[in-house]
Amino acid sequence: MISKTYGPGEQVRARGRCLCGAVSYEVRGPLRPILICHCADCRRWHGYACATTAAYDKDVVISDSGLLTWYKKPSREKLPSRGFCAQCGSSLFWKAPERDTISIAAGTLKPPSGLRVVARIFTADASDYEVIGDDGLAHFEHGAPPEIAALPLEPPGA
Ligand SMILES: [Zn+2]
Ligand SMILES: [Zn+2]
Repeated sequence: MISKTYGPGEQVRARGRCLCGAVSYEVRGPLRPILICHCADCRRWHGYACATTAAYDKDVVISDSGLLTWYKKPSREKLPSRGFCAQCGSSLFWKAPERDTISIAAGTLKPPSGLRVVARIFTADASDYEVIGDDGLAHFEHGAPPEIAALPLEPPGA
């Protein structure tokens, strides 16, 4: 649970929720453009490649009725945790301990998001049924470079 008290001037940039609505959130700050991740962990977690935006921790307020549950691979202490709704199973969040940002599954955002997809990452880990053609996006065989991965930015024109 991440919480913060907001002043009157701070606008809600985005809202989102899980399928059943038990876990919902607001973002009161910038969102990163969307990355599509083809890594094996995201594939298993989301059922296919996943699309995520990201926001600064301090800008995200989560309401979860106690149902937001975090999963981390037990043998890999420094790896990120993945947050899901224990009632409906929706995958919502990805949190790396060393970062001051949280990734948010783009599918949970209430449209219109005002965001665009900018890159595919971990394309080397895509399964054989995934089509990764020349789609105009930046492709990275492994992780995104820091300037793309670490910094939430509003997309141009937003
Ligand atoms: Zn739910
Ligand atoms: Zn991934």
